[in-house]
Amino acid sequence: MKILELRAMAKINLGLDVLRKREDGYHEVRMIMQTVRIFDRLRIQRIRETGIKVRTNLNYLPVDENNLVYRAASLLMKEAGMEEEGILIELEKHIPVAAGMAGGSADAAAALIGVNRLLGLRLSMGELMQRGVRIGADVPYCLMRGTALAEGIGEKLSVLPPCPPCHILVAKPRISVSTKFVYNNLKADEISQHPDIDGQIAALEQGDLRELAKSMGNVLETVTVPAYPVIDKIKKAMLQGGALNAMMSGSGPTVFGIFDDERAGRQCFYRLKGSGLVQQIYLTQPFQNKALQEG
Ligand code: ATP
Repeated sequence: MKILELRAMAKINLGLDVLRKREDGYHEVRMIMQTVRIFDRLRIQRIRETGIKVRTNLNYLPVDENNLVYRAASLLMKEAGMEEEGILIELEKHIPVAAGMAGGSADAAAALIGVNRLLGLRLSMGELMQRGVRIGADVPYCLMRGTALAEGIGEKLSVLPPCPPCHILVAKPRISVSTKFVYNNLKADEISQHPDIDGQIAALEQGDLRELAKSMGNVLETVTVPAYPVIDKIKKAMLQGGALNAMMSGSGPTVFGIFDDERAGRQCFYRLKGSGLVQQIYLTQPFQNKALQEG
């Protein structure tokens, strides 16, 4: 029986601005998205039993329709009238959960690609993106990957020049933060300092890592940093360790630091690992625009 193996890659936000709260409750954002080489593995195959079966190495994650991979598979199978088929999705999680790295959305994107292939549905990338946004605002970006500007609620995407080569230290403290909590506590009309998203785009166009790092900013830190001081402690440790800049990704609590010097990044990795401040830590690199692949 054919088994499809896919990698679902995490993202960081090099910049995250919130423009306003819409009447429907969603926030209008402007974000610089960057895929990093931290990935979950999905193995997808047909099984005799009818329906969708999800298995995962993290026993606290849901395996029913509350898991985004289930929702992705279900959406495509229902639409194709293939609910009588049986599918097993094995999900090996490595991306920090509830951490601002879009792990669930990345898994959903990989599941859309995998089920599309396995069942021979022949949906194009654009068609998968249209379906993906019904699962989550970040899913279209997770299908596209690379460096991008995300606007609207995160689903309006423009490809940007690639992030210059660098080393990215990604550290998740021992807390989980719900995206809902952060947006509910954000006073979108009272943001006094907006990050320089246009400056970041200009830095990407010039391939200037230092300028890119200098203009990093995330308005959601105004909610999470006062609520969870460990975020600031990790940022400071990264800056002291030689990072060009350090910031929280998405709604947090994951912090990342940009290093131009791999040795400094590695030293900081070991220092933070032994500090008791972090639960998961990776030294990684940007991943550039390629279509989601198997393997
Ligand atoms: P974002 O960066 O988009 O805000 P996140 O990193 O905050 O995402 P996720 O890890 O994607 O959050 O998931 C948050 C919650 O969604 C988890 O607490 C979990 O219960 C649920 N969930 C559903 N499917 C998945 C999945 N495949 N992987 C991780 N969490 C999932």
